[in-house]
Order: sequence, then C-alpha cells, then structure tokens
Amino acid sequence: MRAIVVNELGDPDVLQLSDVDDQQPGPGELLVEVGAAGVNFIETYQRSGLYKMPLPYTPGAELAGHVLAVGEGVVGFEPGDRVATVDGRGSYAEQAIVPADRAVRVPEGVDVETAAALMLQGMTAHYLTQSTYPIKPGETALVHAAAGGMGLLLTQLVKAAGGKVIGTTSSEAKAKLAAEAGADEVVRYDQFEGDDLAVEVLRRNGGQGVHVVYDGVGASTFDASLSSLRPRGMMVSFGNASGPVPPVAPLRLSQQGSLFLTRPTLANYIAARQELEWRAGDLFGWIQDGTLTVRIGATYPLGEAAQAHRDLAARKTTGKLLLIP
Ligand code: NDP
Repeated sequence: MRAIVVNELGDPDVLQLSDVDDQQPGPGELLVEVGAAGVNFIETYQRSGLYKMPLPYTPGAELAGHVLAVGEGVVGFEPGDRVATVDGRGSYAEQAIVPADRAVRVPEGVDVETAAALMLQGMTAHYLTQSTYPIKPGETALVHAAAGGMGLLLTQLVKAAGGKVIGTTSSEAKAKLAAEAGADEVVRYDQFEGDDLAVEVLRRNGGQGVHVVYDGVGASTFDASLSSLRPRGMMVSFGNASGPVPPVAPLRLSQQGSLFLTRPTLANYIAARQELEWRAGDLFGWIQDGTLTVRIGATYPLGEAAQAHRDLAARKTTGKLLLIP
C-alpha cells in the first residue's frame, strides 16, 4: 500500500509518498481503509521536531473509513463498518491500524469526509467549551484564528451554548467566514500591535474583559489574550500555530486579575471510553440536527501532503484540511 513516510525531520518536503508493506491487525486492533485523513497542526509540530517522534514514521492519527479486518478479541466491530478515530497509527496512508477501543462508529447520515473532519478539532472544540471552560449563556469568549479549523467549530459551539464570540483573524475573507459561523464581533488582529489588540477586544465587549480566551495561536497572541480577560477569567492556551508560549511567572496571573491559566490537550479529555463516546456522539448528533456545520476548506490527494502542510503553515487555509487516499 502507499503511505507518507517521514525519514528525517524538516520542512514539508520530508513528507514522501512511499510503497510500504501491508499491515495485519493485532489483538484488539482494526485494519481500516482510510477514506479521509485529517491534516492537523500537530503533524507540522511533529515533522519539524517541536514534538518528538521516532523515525521513520507515517504521520497522522485522525481518520475515517471502512473496517477491512478485525484482530483477535475485537468485539463490536466487523469488516465493512464505518469508523472514525483520532488515534490511528499513521493515517496519511491508504490503510491504517486503529485500536478498537479508540474507534467510534460513524452513524448513518454522516459521510466519511465529514466524520474525518470532525473528530480531532470537533472533540477539541467540545472539551474546550463543555469541560475546560463550560460556557454559560451571556458569557463572552475570545476565539483566535476564528476562520481556522478549530476557530469555526469553537465559534459555533460557544454560540450554541448561548455565549457571545469575539473572533480574531487576519483577512477580510476570513473575517466574513467567522461572522457567518456566528461570531458577534470580528477583530482583524493583524492590524493591532501588542496590547492594542486587548484594548480593541474590550471596546468590542462594552468595556469589559472577556470570560474566557480560547487561544490556539500561541506566542503572538498570548500577552494580548491575558490582557483581554476580566478578573478571574480563564486563559485556555491550547496551541502553538505562531510558536510556543514562553514560560510565564504565576505572579503575573495575580497582577492581571487573579486569572486562571490552563494548557490542555485532547488526550486527557477522551482517555475514558465513556468520554470519547460522549464527545463523538454529541458531535455526530449536532451534525445530523444542523447545530454544527464542518467547513472542509480543502482536500488533497495523499501525495500532496507536503502542500497541505505548506498551506496550513502559510495561513492560506480555512476550516478543515483532508487528505483523500
Ligand atoms: P487552523 O486552521 O486554525 O490554522 C491555524 C491558523 O492560525 C491560521 O490559519 C492563522 O489564521 C492562525 N495563525 C496565526 N499566526 C499564525 C502563524 N504564525 N502561522 C500559522 N498560522 C497562524 O489550524 P487548526 O484548527 O488545525 O489548529 C489551531 C490550533 O489548535 C493549533 O495551534 C493546534 O495545535 C491547536 N490544537 C490543539 C489541540 C489540543 O487539544 N490542545 C487539538 C487540536 C488543535 P489567521 O490567518 O486568521 O491568523
């Protein structure tokens, strides 16, 4: 079968399309034909070496597709079932091994591309708005990169919970998408320097700080994010799109209003099978009843994985990127 293989860390060109041996599912595993694989920022961090990976490896963990074979002891799945996961072992491939206890069934009415597009960013938007800082009606969230994969989903889920969204983004076309997803205010953060961004956020929120900041941009927005919060507000730093955030002294949280700071990651919010099923089930249900829409911004053939990474890093993309093997 064909798969992307990374033999050395580096720029997107290290994502090489290669012929590799077919795999067989071991005990408790599924072999899945990948219908669509999600492209996520984490794979750029792994490729560049910011997050450690053993070499060589096939990138990607998010996928949806059909079960081809089941390993010994697997209960509840059989060949032909449509499944999705965020824990595939190398989803940039025609086939991938998936631990059965990390797979969820894709319900009728949800196509494979939507399922693949929903799993990682969708469950992240779910835990951020339902568990990390459960948004209450009338509260305001600042959502950075609001036209991105995470941003469009977060915006919709904050609105569905009755909250107000102030979104940020870097172009008029992206601002329009954020507004269409429900953002009440959209700030062009590329037009503000330093804490001027926070001044603008407060102005757009009636002079008040926001209750929560969902910040996946990282280094370039962190300071303005803290300054945008009301006393006892929650800073949720969940990503590094512009680079990792440098160390922060706890005293600064006190000086800026007894703030809360967390740096969450999806794995800790779906570790229990029950939580995985709850989050995935809610998301599929919201797709089916129209509460949530997933924007698939671009699809790429498997061999163009490098271009997908280039586009993502160059801020050229909106919504979700998929590889279609
Ligand atoms: P996006 O589609 O949001 O793409 C990233 C966006 O960030 C860009 O489109 C751009 O939007 C903005 N951005 C700002 N500065 C930069 C920069 N210097 N370089 C690149 N982009 C920049 O990506 P995802 O939705 O896949 O991921 C968003 C963030 O969420 C990432 O940091 C990712 O790691 C994180 N994440 C974290 C998870 C967790 O559990 N902690 C799980 C899933 C994702 P604009 O042009 O509008 O500025």
